[in-house]
Amino acid sequence: MISTEAKKQIAGGSQIRKMFEEGKRLAGIYGAENVYDFSLGNPDQEPPREIIENLREDAASDAKGLHSYMANAGYPEAREAVARYESQRSGQAIEASGVVMTVGAAGALAIILRSLCDQGDEVIIIAPYFTEYTHYIRLAGAVPVRVDCRANFQPDLAAIEAAITPRTKAIIVNSPNNPSGVVYSATTYEALHVLLSKQAQTIYVISDEPYREIAYDGVEVPAVMRYIPNAIVAYSWSKSYALPGERIGYACVAKQTEDYQDLCQALVLYNRTLGFVNAPALWQRVVTRSLDLPISVENYQRRRDMMLEIFADCGLACQKPDGAFYLFPKVPNGLSEEAFVAKCAEHRILLVGASGFGKPGYVRLSYAVPEDMIKRSADAFKAVMADLK
Ligand code: PLP
Repeated sequence: MISTEAKKQIAGGSQIRKMFEEGKRLAGIYGAENVYDFSLGNPDQEPPREIIENLREDAASDAKGLHSYMANAGYPEAREAVARYESQRSGQAIEASGVVMTVGAAGALAIILRSLCDQGDEVIIIAPYFTEYTHYIRLAGAVPVRVDCRANFQPDLAAIEAAITPRTKAIIVNSPNNPSGVVYSATTYEALHVLLSKQAQTIYVISDEPYREIAYDGVEVPAVMRYIPNAIVAYSWSKSYALPGERIGYACVAKQTEDYQDLCQALVLYNRTLGFVNAPALWQRVVTRSLDLPISVENYQRRRDMMLEIFADCGLACQKPDGAFYLFPKVPNGLSEEAFVAKCAEHRILLVGASGFGKPGYVRLSYAVPEDMIKRSADAFKAVMADLK
């Protein structure tokens, strides 16, 4: 028999994955062109040309030992390249010893949480948050503590302060945010630093940054380490280089971080013992050869604007996101989240209710989807809203 905990978590399910499966089912019945699937944050762009070229070159290499085991933290050259890049970005002293190459941002979050938390420790998450945080936190033996955001989805610092207890070990920030698309400002991080410095214990800030290059209209995404000394970065190339299936990212700490030496060792320990062993060798080499490729966000921005226009036309209220590739409209007309998701599915629009993101009463749509699908969905959105009148 499987564990009670596994049973509990399976029963919760992943709504996003369920919707993704439902999309495939409906496409089989009605044809893919008649299904408008906004459920999954899977970049529909191809990786940058240079990355594919690096990949070809690497695959063609006759060098020996390319496919061997390595140090659990990753190739020294990859870690050095990331350390240089992160130092430049944040203005902080970051050495290769503070970088662990990981299996995506998810792998980074898993080893960071496991490194920091004892059984029963608390980790604050700001709603709306990435659905998987609660699972990662529980797997580390800790307890997720949900704190609501302000009306504009920005962090509510007073609420965060009120949620801190002697067991609080860390707080996860994610900007640009999945699902709301908001970007936190440098002022917010400065204020968060002031708040955390007043506490009796060290509270680490885990900065989950897979979307940090995806911001629009010239909005700056500040480097968290510049403002918060005890910040730990979880990064991946899943979104910026459109490589989510390849599972490559890193965890990074600056030298100024409290308990730096122990923390570095713990990150390596858990990269090994959680079963990752090390991040994919090939992809460590491929991505770190081209770390600062320009990321084009025009396609995403255009899609965001197309979607917002469709929403405005049919009367669905939604805050304009500054980054990532999600829209987070409020469920209209006092309807329940489930009823609205079902009504959309009736018109073959697939989106995800936001209860799993800790923010009931909203839905999330990903616009990392083909533009012609967005155009074709306009009538379906109108039909949904007309049905609700
Ligand atoms: N964090 C956030 C906010 C995400 O949206 C995702 C993926 O969608 C992840 C982490 C996991 O990223 P990765 O694919 O790099 O593990």
